[in-house]
Amino acid sequence: MSRRLNWWPLALVVIEETDVMREHGHAGYQRRWCAHIHPDFADDPGLLAHELEHVAQWWRAPLSHGRRYRKNEAYRFHAELEAFRAQLRAYPAERRDYYVGHLAKRLATYYGFDLTPDEAAEALR
Ligand SMILES: [Zn+2]
Repeated sequence: MSRRLNWWPLALVVIEETDVMREHGHAGYQRRWCAHIHPDFADDPGLLAHELEHVAQWWRAPLSHGRRYRKNEAYRFHAELEAFRAQLRAYPAERRDYYVGHLAKRLATYYGFDLTPDEAAEALR
């Protein structure tokens, strides 16, 4: 396991595999000011940007972000769209089309939103 501070948004970045990752197949997740990244993705700038965007969302509303994320699908969709867009910006611009397709599939498949990969790609653009 390794840890380092990210200064904006202020976050503790923890590189480790957790039970949450093992149970749900996630490569990363955010909890309050911590961004947890699976060791296999420690060098993935997009995943880090995605989780740090969620940390920034938490800092904007630390008392309500987690509850709203869990209970309000429209809020969760908006939060994920922001995080996926931050992830896209972290990847090389010349591979943007590839990453839009890749991330759109993930957004349409793993988050319980009622949308197709094409609709997800449209939302990401
Ligand atoms: Zn996310």
